[in-house]
Formats: sequence, structure tokens, C-alpha cells
Amino acid sequence: MERWVEETLHRGFRVRLKADRVLFDSETEHQRLIIFDNADFGRVMMLDNVVQVSTADEFVYHEMMSHVPLFAHGRAKRALIVGGGDGGVLREALKHPDLEQVTLCEIDQSVIDLCREHFPDVSAGAYDDPRTRIVIADGTKFVAVTNERFDVILVDSTDPIGPGAVLFTKEFYTDCRRCLAPGGLLVTQNGLPFLQAPELKQSIGYFCELFDDAFAYLATTPSYFGGPMSYGWATDDVDLRHLRHDAIERRYADAGAFPTRYWRPDVHVAAFALPTYVRELVEG
Ligand code: SAM
Repeated sequence: MERWVEETLHRGFRVRLKADRVLFDSETEHQRLIIFDNADFGRVMMLDNVVQVSTADEFVYHEMMSHVPLFAHGRAKRALIVGGGDGGVLREALKHPDLEQVTLCEIDQSVIDLCREHFPDVSAGAYDDPRTRIVIADGTKFVAVTNERFDVILVDSTDPIGPGAVLFTKEFYTDCRRCLAPGGLLVTQNGLPFLQAPELKQSIGYFCELFDDAFAYLATTPSYFGGPMSYGWATDDVDLRHLRHDAIERRYADAGAFPTRYWRPDVHVAAFALPTYVRELVEG
């Protein structure tokens, strides 16, 4: 009997993906997790009925969540990833040779275990990199108590439902700010502006209260159905997002110009060119 899996994130808009083969389907300690194979998107993981990662297009999101902040910052030694249990952002961040340590704070050990088993090419050995440190905890609790300081914090979270809801609060962003080293940068998975505008507007509103520069950039991952995905941007270094193409080119060359499938210096610059309907959300 055919099995179709439905994404139920949005109020009046649902997508169904045919599950040609189901590899896991159960509740973890924190959320409903399903992993299945699909003819168009490859291997797919959903959490609480929302697509998280699919092997056909994960390179878009993971490259843009990592390389834009890391090349914009240019001097990052320590990074924190909140969420990110599939290991894709970790994989891409570790391509930056100057990074000395990447801490990944993931609430759900089962996500890491199952993704290592069923999505080995997504993490691609990143969990075993000597620079990787895994913390199994709620990201809000980690940033509330840590004495560590990070040059870049990447919030690769689920949407503001279930355990991810707390990662869209002013309290969490305030603690992230406390954990940033001087000149540090916070980037957040902030949903699809076309369908989740209030979330982006709220996050950027908090960033405006807490940081000197609050903005967003965009990239379209086809399996995040409903248009481009926004990445929230928050820092006290107002120059970081205005880096010119030639400077990014130089930093990319210095980092070894490793192969990419989506991020490029010109794509990096263009990602900040927001269409009016998104600019209005970001600029208030
Ligand atoms: N790229 C995906 C997206 O854009 O929606 C996110 C992928 S990643 C799998 C999301 C991760 O956030 C999940 O592994 C989930 O367990 C984790 N997560 C959710 N709430 C969390 C919290 N409060 N603290 C730490 N990790 C959390």
C-alpha cells in the first residue's frame, strides 16, 4: 500500500511526499521523527511533520547557513551551532581551516544517532572531527549558563513548534548576545518570509533591540516548500554584511577555495539583496 507523508507546518497549505521506503518512524524523547526515501528529494527526515533535511537539496541550506556568516566574520576561531543534529551545518563549518572548535548543542540525541546511521553523507565524518564538541542539551539552557565565548553562533533549529519554540525568544537571543565574543555574529534559521512573516519580523525586532545591526539574507531550498528561506542576522559589527565581493573572494581563496554547490562569493553578496516584501519585514 502506498505511503504518503504530509507536512503540516502551515495553516492552509500542506505538502505530501511519497515514502517509497520508510527507515524510521517513531517518537524520540522530544519529537516525532520519520526518515524515508523519496524519488524526487532523496532521503528525507521530518520532525513533528516538518521537513528538516533531504539529501537532494541539503547543500543549499547548509552551505548558506555556514559560509555566509563564517566568510563575513573572517576571523572566527570558535563557533556554536544550536540544533543542527543532522550534521550538515557542522560539515560545512569545519571546511573553514581557521576554526579551532565547533560546539554543537543539540537537544535530541536520537536525531544525531539516526542521522549518523541513515544520512552518513550529510555529516560526512564531521562528528568525528577533533574540532567537534557535542553537547546534548536545550540550547536555551546552554547559552544561559556557559562561560564560553563564540565568534559565530548558528541557530540551525526546527521551526517555533515543540522544542524549537524557545529558540525564537528574546531571552534566548539575549543569552546568545552574552555568549558572543566582541565583533561576534548570530545567524538564525528564520523560516519562509512568504508563509512565516510574523516569525521573521519578531526575531528581527528582538535583534534591533539587542544589536547594532539586524538584517536577514535569503536562499531557496526546494524542500522547504513555500519560497525562499530567511536567515536572521544580528551583530554589533555593522560592516560584516557589507563585505565586498573581492574581499569575500580573497577569504575564500585563503580558506582553500573548497568546492561548493550553492554558496559562491557573488551568491553571498546577492543573498542580502532582499525583495521589498522581505525588506519591509526586516526594516520595520
Ligand atoms: N535545517 C532545518 C531547518 O531549517 O528547519 C533544521 C534541521 S536540524 C535537524 C533542527 C534541530 O534542532 C533538530 O535536530 C532538533 O532536535 C533541534 N532542536 C530543536 N529544539 C532545540 C533546542 N531547544 N535546543 C537544541 N536543539 C534543538
